[in-house]
Amino acid sequence: MALPTQYVPSQTRYDNMTYRKCGHSGVFLPAISLGLWQNFGGADVFETGRSILRYAFDQGITHIDLANNYGPPYGSAEENFGKVLATDFKPFRDELFISSKAGWDMWPGPYGGIGSSKKYLIASCDQSLQRMGLDYVDVFYSHRVDPNTPIEETMGALTQLHRQGKALYVGISSYSPKLTRKAAEILSRENVPLFIHQPSYSMFNRWIENGLLDTLEELGTGCIGFSPLAQGLLTKKYLNGVPEGARATKSPSFRQDWLTDNNVSVIRKLTEIAERRGQSLAQMAIAWVLKDPRVTSALIGARTVEQLADSLDSLKYLTFTSDELKEIDSLQLDGDINIWSGSSDL
Ligand code: NDP
Repeated sequence: MALPTQYVPSQTRYDNMTYRKCGHSGVFLPAISLGLWQNFGGADVFETGRSILRYAFDQGITHIDLANNYGPPYGSAEENFGKVLATDFKPFRDELFISSKAGWDMWPGPYGGIGSSKKYLIASCDQSLQRMGLDYVDVFYSHRVDPNTPIEETMGALTQLHRQGKALYVGISSYSPKLTRKAAEILSRENVPLFIHQPSYSMFNRWIENGLLDTLEELGTGCIGFSPLAQGLLTKKYLNGVPEGARATKSPSFRQDWLTDNNVSVIRKLTEIAERRGQSLAQMAIAWVLKDPRVTSALIGARTVEQLADSLDSLKYLTFTSDELKEIDSLQLDGDINIWSGSSDL
């Protein structure tokens, strides 16, 4: 169905969303934020992405997360988001909190993603602003620790973007607790607060419980956990094989060898627990991430409006009994299904 040309946002968009304070800052983020890593690129159907974005805003999702290389092709998610900003969200820029990042591969040659040099980060932020048609992003992240770039240089780039007003706040992604502390210390010498950390976090990937959450609480830094559905594994879609169109069929980021008999039976048991709670597994997985008040926001993805609607209903029931938590903890996966966890300490 074609979307109405003129977008008029819902009058009730702030009625059902919960907002959580991001660390010691004055900013509140929605408990659920939307990331455009997959499904919003040039290879996807633009109008589908646009309808997901409109629905998200209508439901109070004010925070949209991007990175330079989201697509495919690289840059195209930012370009598409820029189009939606221009056509639909232009009057609402100040109701939106938009982030971008640099750190992984982006353009050819030694300055486009081999590291996290100042050269790369500053140029990449300028390119992102241009693609999205923005004067500034609300947050700019160092997307990863680069062992070949001194952390002082990477934080120097974030400091410069902050001073120039190209990034109102700065963040880091997947830094170990030790390097998070170091990054915060370097930034604080320049009077730049470390606003937020973006780590992976889900029932299947709990590395942040080993020190990172404590560190962030101590530093007064917010935490936005990405991939709370473990890229779709924490839904019931893989219980009877791999359905057409699912991420497992499309993206190398999802490894089909995670779908062992044991892992599928763990997912089946989790689905039963969720059903007993009156939730879908996706809803329980998001609620599980949000049960810790130190998690500011769950950063989800969605391929359809229906998926997003289902995921948002997690906010209706966020508490767990200790028996439910014990039962969840007792389920063991085969090996490690994570492709991201914290960096090494260098
Ligand atoms: P999720 O774990 O939320 O996975 C999203 C996928 O799960 C969807 O694309 C869809 O996959 C499936 N899905 C979503 N909702 C439902 C539902 N209700 N029922 C059934 N299936 C559902 O997050 P992502 O892995 O997409 O990551 C989210 C965001 O996190 C990214 O967009 C990005 O912003 C950020 N991120 C950051 C990284 C970093 O290094 N900082 C790395 C990775 C992500 P399907 O197509 O199979 O239906």
